[in-house]
Amino acid sequence: MRFFRKAAQAVRQGLARTRSVLGSGLRSLLAGRRLDDELIDEIEASLIGADVGVKATTEIVGELREAVKKGELEKGEDAIEFLKSRLKRRWDDAPVEIAVADPSPTVVLVVGVNGVGKTTSVAKIAHTLRAEGRSVVLAAADTFRAGAVEQLATWADRLGVDLIRGAAGADPAAVVFDAVDATLARKADVLLIDTAGRLHVEANLMRQLVKIREVIARKIPGAPHEVLLVLDATSGQNGLQQATVFGEAVGVTGIFLAKLDGTARGGIVVAIRDALKVPVKLVGVGERVEDVQPFDPDAFIDAMFAADHESASTS
Ligand code: GDP
Repeated sequence: MRFFRKAAQAVRQGLARTRSVLGSGLRSLLAGRRLDDELIDEIEASLIGADVGVKATTEIVGELREAVKKGELEKGEDAIEFLKSRLKRRWDDAPVEIAVADPSPTVVLVVGVNGVGKTTSVAKIAHTLRAEGRSVVLAAADTFRAGAVEQLATWADRLGVDLIRGAAGADPAAVVFDAVDATLARKADVLLIDTAGRLHVEANLMRQLVKIREVIARKIPGAPHEVLLVLDATSGQNGLQQATVFGEAVGVTGIFLAKLDGTARGGIVVAIRDALKVPVKLVGVGERVEDVQPFDPDAFIDAMFAADHESASTS
């Protein structure tokens, strides 16, 4: 059994802003020019501008200079394929999938800072699982803000999935306790837990996440099977910092990178790859529940560099 069976195809539309820098932007920069030092400096600035990160940019631009020196490349246009192949090489292992428990249920804990798109991302995951014919229980473990529970309840209603919620101000770990019981009783395939948004610097709230983890593990050995950290793609380096702290506190196993459509800096995916041990597993490319894709590095790099006319047929 595998979750998110659909291959990544529709990211191009969502990556329109990034494409304006690395797709059409770079193409018009390169057109008809020779790969001299000046042009390579401009390519370097484009990669940095797309948030690819200093590490990857320095390495790849260094390799580009070498290749030009050796006469392997000459024309500006040749740089696109070169950059794409060097970026793709950074993911030389198999794409990472969402962990699935056998036997069911699979427990997925979703964490992140307020406003990054966490609740919307939970709804997207629930929608995809439902579309694949799986039964889902949602747990609203964000008991701090009444609005947060209501927001999730609205999604649960719309998506036709069960929601377990506590009274306002209830202990989130108690809500999770009940939700695990309900999931087992209903023999549901997946329990998806939305937690309160918190800052990675709030020690008490981070401890609460650890407690939630322990409650789950006591009831279902080996669970949670995934701890997904939702990051906002528009937040750049700050997101990397959040990931490091969350990762250490609650054992994040994967990243859901939301709002990739809202930024010209889709290259942040490369910077995340270089900076963190945790893989990006899913990407959010819009506000609708359908706007989610499993992260496929090759398809993603192609989409980042796609010219505008390439987007229409594939999105
Ligand atoms: P939370 O506070 O982290 O739970 O964030 P919400 O789920 O409430 O989302 C905050 C805002 O981001 C809402 O307006 C969402 O519609 C929006 N949002 C979430 N994911 C995406 C995405 O992938 N793309 C875009 N453009 N907006 C998103």
